[in-house]
Amino acid sequence: MSSSLAAVPPHLPSIDSLLRNPACQPLVERYGRDALLATLRHLLDELREPVRSGQLSAAELTPPVLAGRAGERLFNQHRSRVQRVFNLTGTVLHTNLGRALLPEVAIDAVQTAARYPLNLEFDLHSGKRGDRDDLIEGLIRELTGAEAVTVVNNNAAAVLLALNSLGQRKEGIISRGELIEIGGAFRIPDIMARAGVRLHEVGTTNRTHARDYESAIGPRSGLLMRVHASNYNIQGFTAQVPTAELARIAHRHGLPLLDDLGSGSLLDLTRWGLPAEPTVRQALEDGADIVTFSGDKLLGGPQAGLIVGGKELIAKIKKNPLKRALRVDKLTLAALEAVLGLYRNPERLAERLPSLRLLTRPQVEILAQAERLRPVLAAVLGEGWSVSAIPALGMIGSGSQPVARLPSAALCLRAHTSKRLRGRSLQGLEAALRGLPIPVLGRIDDDALWLDLRQLDDEAVWVAQLEGLNLGTASSFIASKLAPTKSAAVESPESAHQGHLAGSRAG
Ligand SMILES: *Cc1c(COP(=O)(O)O)cnc(C)c1O
Repeated sequence: MSSSLAAVPPHLPSIDSLLRNPACQPLVERYGRDALLATLRHLLDELREPVRSGQLSAAELTPPVLAGRAGERLFNQHRSRVQRVFNLTGTVLHTNLGRALLPEVAIDAVQTAARYPLNLEFDLHSGKRGDRDDLIEGLIRELTGAEAVTVVNNNAAAVLLALNSLGQRKEGIISRGELIEIGGAFRIPDIMARAGVRLHEVGTTNRTHARDYESAIGPRSGLLMRVHASNYNIQGFTAQVPTAELARIAHRHGLPLLDDLGSGSLLDLTRWGLPAEPTVRQALEDGADIVTFSGDKLLGGPQAGLIVGGKELIAKIKKNPLKRALRVDKLTLAALEAVLGLYRNPERLAERLPSLRLLTRPQVEILAQAERLRPVLAAVLGEGWSVSAIPALGMIGSGSQPVARLPSAALCLRAHTSKRLRGRSLQGLEAALRGLPIPVLGRIDDDALWLDLRQLDDEAVWVAQLEGLNLGTASSFIASKLAPTKSAAVESPESAHQGHLAGSRAG
């Protein structure tokens, strides 16, 4: 049999015969006949020339081999583009990596909401049409002291909607020190313009006084706005007007005060040793009429923007046609209700809410984990690398407390190569880790790759997949001195803090 095969010059099988071949049947079953047909066509087209010039043997053209190649392509085409990763960047609420992780109760709630019909806009008591915001209004009242709430897609939407509802065609008065940009496209002056509110900036970058607001108020004024400058710090010769005083000024002139808290925490975080963030309740008690904040920053829930405040203003906001365009879906509401429910018991919150649990993991525990994993990683990487377990500093992320550092611990990987090639081998290693079935993302800083272990929960899975680490790229960089392959990991000027992920830690 084999001798007769050798005598015949190899040729490509026909598409029809391939499609009928048993080797292809599982692929038809899984991906459908059309997808398989298209893939086989491409594959055979590519092989025609190599076959003609005799580069391929008959053994490389058998139906099982060709079906295998087609199967590989189809698998890659059909693989989910949404992929789980290990976030070892040191930034806990990383915007590029999906921010907060949901607690189990929220995941259960999402499943139920996804699987069954639910009372999204139906009042089970009266049997009449309901309002989706009502599903969380009781909890929000209890947790923040607000009278009413409305929920939209994210905090950017919350700010846009609140501004447009309260200040369209009027002036919004805001301190020059609060005209901030939050990651990419969200800039307070731009969002004001889009909301149809005329920006009236007062004071200076570092100092704004009560009299600056007072003298700006006139017949065209619509609202006073305060933005919690969550992603940068002004230090030195500074002055701000406290919220309570700003509220008094606004109310004296019959204007509402809108307070964009950003990360907006519901509880005082200092009880867990975290940096102080203004709470929603405090902002309301200080007199803010409307407070906006994110659902997936310090709150630890799903992406959402919460707008809380007095009944009348919230009713006005809900009547805005934009609300319909910005409203949240049932999955978000289900998750949000479950997360808010956990806040009823602050004593157990740090063990139940993943983001808080991760933010409060003690450094000694993380360091012990790093020491435990150090020899494992060192063995996988081999002689070209030094691996050390050392204290490191992480951050909260999502623009919360950008100056504050979370004492953490990391595996620090350094290449034993010449200084000139070090960057390349680091990039190779970074790419190899990124190429694992569950990509491992660290940060490059100071000629080393840092894997901050604060968020390494699933240690067994992480270790198991290290076996498959393909350092081919890393060593070939050193050996062949080739230019590095294209990598998404571009070291930005921010890289020292941000890690190698593109985008901003702030937004
Ligand atoms: C993060 C942030 C926003 C935007 O919130 P998203 O939920 O990301 O849309 C707006 N304002 C402030 C002050 C923020 O910190």
